Amino acid sequence: MIDIFRFLCSSMETEIENSTRENTKENEMLNLNLQTLEEVAQQAFDSAEAKGGKDARRWTVAIVKAKLQLAENPYIHDEGDALLILSPSNEIYHSNGSCQCQAWMKGKFPCWHRAAHRLVRLYTERERSH
Ligand SMILES: [Zn+2]
Repeated sequence: MIDIFRFLCSSMETEIENSTRENTKENEMLNLNLQTLEEVAQQAFDSAEAKGGKDARRWTVAIVKAKLQLAENPYIHDEGDALLILSPSNEIYHSNGSCQCQAWMKGKFPCWHRAAHRLVRLYTERERSH
């Protein structure tokens, strides 16, 4: 069986590299540990798959994209209750349970901005429990 998590990670990495203007190895604003980020992304990915439903596939894609953005995009700021994101498309999103992007406007579809918010919450919880 193909590992979809790995597959999506590797196929999207190229896309992110091309779209992020300032490529940093570590997110300077959020200063995330990439190993921990990988683990919470895997955790979120697995639970999205286990949960199933019509949006499951969109969520898994959104989670992988969020993971890569959190690692590479230096323009993401955690405001505590929400995540402030300057996306590669030069839009600013204020993301918590809701978002302002096209996916959200079109029908509250899963988007990587909301996935990123969830990953940062999971990340923070994990850091606190250690
Ligand atoms: Zn969004």
